[in-house]
Amino acid sequence: MSTVKDNIVFGGNYTPAGVLKHTSLGSYLLENIRGHGDDVLYIDALTGREYTAKEFYDRVIRMIYCLIRLNVKESDVVGLSSENCFDYIVVLFATFCVNATAAPFNVTYSEREFDHAINLSKPKVFFTSKGPAERVAKVARKNNYLKHVFIFDDVSSFKGVIPFAHLIDNPKIKSGADYQPKPTKVHDRVALIVCSSGTTGMPKGVQITQFNILSTIDTQMDPEAVNFGGIPVLSVIPWFHAFGCLTLIMCTCMGTQLIYLPKFEETVFLGAIEKYRVMLAFMVPPLMVFLAKHPIVDKYDLSSLVMLLSGAAPLSKETEDAIKARIGVPTIRQGYGLSEGTLSLTVQSDEKCKPGSVGVLRKGLYAKVIDTETGKPLGKNQRGELCFKGDCIMKGYIGDKNSTDAMIKNGWLHTGDIGFYDEDFEFFIVDRIKELIKYKAFQVPPAEIEALLLTHDKIKDVAVVGKPDESAGELPFAFVVKQNGANLTEQEVMDFVAANASSPKKLRGGVKFVNEIPKNASGKILRRVLREMLKRPKSKL
Ligand code: AMP
Repeated sequence: MSTVKDNIVFGGNYTPAGVLKHTSLGSYLLENIRGHGDDVLYIDALTGREYTAKEFYDRVIRMIYCLIRLNVKESDVVGLSSENCFDYIVVLFATFCVNATAAPFNVTYSEREFDHAINLSKPKVFFTSKGPAERVAKVARKNNYLKHVFIFDDVSSFKGVIPFAHLIDNPKIKSGADYQPKPTKVHDRVALIVCSSGTTGMPKGVQITQFNILSTIDTQMDPEAVNFGGIPVLSVIPWFHAFGCLTLIMCTCMGTQLIYLPKFEETVFLGAIEKYRVMLAFMVPPLMVFLAKHPIVDKYDLSSLVMLLSGAAPLSKETEDAIKARIGVPTIRQGYGLSEGTLSLTVQSDEKCKPGSVGVLRKGLYAKVIDTETGKPLGKNQRGELCFKGDCIMKGYIGDKNSTDAMIKNGWLHTGDIGFYDEDFEFFIVDRIKELIKYKAFQVPPAEIEALLLTHDKIKDVAVVGKPDESAGELPFAFVVKQNGANLTEQEVMDFVAANASSPKKLRGGVKFVNEIPKNASGKILRRVLREMLKRPKSKL
C-alpha cells in the first residue's frame, strides 16, 4: 500500500524472503535451483526438449569449472549474444556463480554496433550462436582483450570460433563435482551489463549489481507480488534485454516451467501456448497488437492463458480490450521500468489497474514526479519527470561518470519519462523527454542513427525522431539536410542505415529533406518541433 510524504511516494514495506542474507548472487541461485529437485524448469518450444532443475544445476556446475579453466575471474566480463536457448541460461548462471559479469548483446547488431557495445564492457570470453557469430568474431579479432569466442550451434565454419561442446563436454572437466560460490561485495559486484542509451547519446553499459538482482528477487517473492511458481509460462522476450533477462532469472528462482522460443515466430508462439497450456506470458505491446489483430490467432486454442504481463513500451487500452474480447484472457497487467532500474518500477495489481495506467510503485521503492524546470517534487495528478530511488537502481554506466551523474542524482534515478500519479497512487506515463525511440519495444537511440548518417558524404546535417505507429509504437524518421548541390534520394538514405545498423534502426518511418534542422541557441536539436512537423506534413523548414 503506497503512502506519500512531502510529495515523495513510498511503495510500502514488503515481506523479505531471506534472499538478501546471501553473500553472493551465485550462492543464492545454486541453493535455490537445488531446491527445485527434479522439477522441469525449462522447455524448448521448438524441439520440445525439457530440462529439469537437477540437469540444469549439473550443467551450471560444469560450466563454472569451464569458466575457471578459461581463467575467468571475479569481475571479468563474459559476453553473450544468442537467441534464447538452454546453453545461454547455463552460461549466464555460471558467470554469476564465479562473481564475473555477464554482458548480453542484441543478436541483430551489425558489426559496427557490436564493436561499440563490446568495447564498453570488454568481455574476456564470448558465447554466441550461428546468426551473430561472424560479426562477433570480426570484432574479437580487432580486440586483444577478447580471448575466446564459443558458438552454441553445431557449426565450426567460422574462423576463430570454437564449438561450445568442445568446452563443456571436455572429459577433463570433472563430473559430479559441486561448487560453493565465494562471498563477494554484492553492492559493488556487477552481475550484468545491458545496453541502454539512457536519456541521450549512444548506447551505454548499464551496470546491474548482484545486490540489484538479489533485492529484485526478494521483493518479487512478496506474497502480494505476482508469483509464477510451478505454472507454465511463455518467454519470447529476448534475454539480451533487461526485461527478458530478469524475468528469466525470476522464473528460475520461482520454479516456473519456462517455455522459451529462440525468437518470435507467429505459428510457433501460438502453437506453444496451445500445446503447453501456457497460463502466463511475458509480452511487449507489439506482441499484444498481434494477439489483438492477426487473423491467424483464431486458429489456436489460447484458453489456458490466465494472465498477460506487458512491459517495455506503452500498451493502449484499445489493444487490451481487444485481446480480452477476442481470447477471453481474464487478466492483463501492464508494468513500467527501464534497464537502469533492473526490472519493473511500477506494475498493475488486481485492484490498481485503471485503463492506461502502469500500476502502482513496487514495494520497497520511492518515487517522485518533479517539475522539469525547477526540479521540485509535485503532488498527485501533476505531470513531471518520474524519478525513482531504491535497491534496484543501477550502479551506473560503465566508464561513463558524466552520464551516470546526469541520470542518478542523490540516489534518484531520473528516467526522462513524463508522467503523474493519481489519488490512488496509480502511475501514468504520458510523454518522454529523453532522446529515445522505441520500435517494437527495442531501443533506438536517435543520436546513434544521426552519428551514422553524418558519416555519409552527401549529408550535411540530420535529426532522427520517432513517428507514432499503431503496431510498432514508433518508427525512426530522419530529417536530412543535404550537402550543397548533392544528389541524394530518400531511398539512398534509408538503404545506408539499413546496410549499417540493426533492423530496429531502419528508417521505417521515412526520410524528409529539409533546409535546416531546428536547434536551440546551444545547438541542441529541437525534437519536439520536428515531431510536430511530422503531424503537419506541409511544413516549410
Ligand atoms: P528499456 O531500458 O529498453 O526497457 O527502455 C525503458 C523505457 O521504455 C522507459 O524509460 C520508457 O520510456 C519506456 N517504457 C517502458 N515501459 C513502459 C510502459 N509500460 N509504458 C510506457 N513506456 C514504457
